[in-house]
Amino acid sequence: MRQRSARDQKRLDSGQVTNPKDLENLQSEIASLARRQGDLEDVVLEVMERHEAATERAAELAQRVEAVQAKAEDAVARRDAALGEIDGEAGTVRAERDSVAGTVPADLLKLYEKIREQQGGVGAARLFQRRCEGCRLELNITELNEVRAAPEDEVVRCENCRRVLVRTPESGL
Ligand SMILES: [Zn+2]
Repeated sequence: MRQRSARDQKRLDSGQVTNPKDLENLQSEIASLARRQGDLEDVVLEVMERHEAATERAAELAQRVEAVQAKAEDAVARRDAALGEIDGEAGTVRAERDSVAGTVPADLLKLYEKIREQQGGVGAARLFQRRCEGCRLELNITELNEVRAAPEDEVVRCENCRRVLVRTPESGL
């Protein structure tokens, strides 16, 4: 378009075009080309501005993606560390349990396992301040008297949840 405008201008300046109608046409075309060029320059400016904004936004998004990825990696690392710890603890507790189970008479262990299966994984509960810590119910006076009267090595059970009651100095007997 610039070339065409320059060519028109050259023809105009050369003085070769003498016909008034042709001169008028030429001048009109030059003016029209100049307007069109101005419009196109506006479009180019706008496109450049939009491109710049889009580039900035892309950089911003890339940064956010990076931040989220770092967070995700951190979370995975913490999860793995926690899992490792839990595995370690589970191993220790399992070993402790096995060692304690080895000292419990076979029939009592069998009873305990049976109750444990029925009572959601807890087969024995501490009797603490007259309350069964398995079902959280307080023993009534008759039940307490029975527990009091029972020899130390007798297995006593909660009348409510049937768990084995473990007597301690804090049992409230
Ligand atoms: Zn109970």
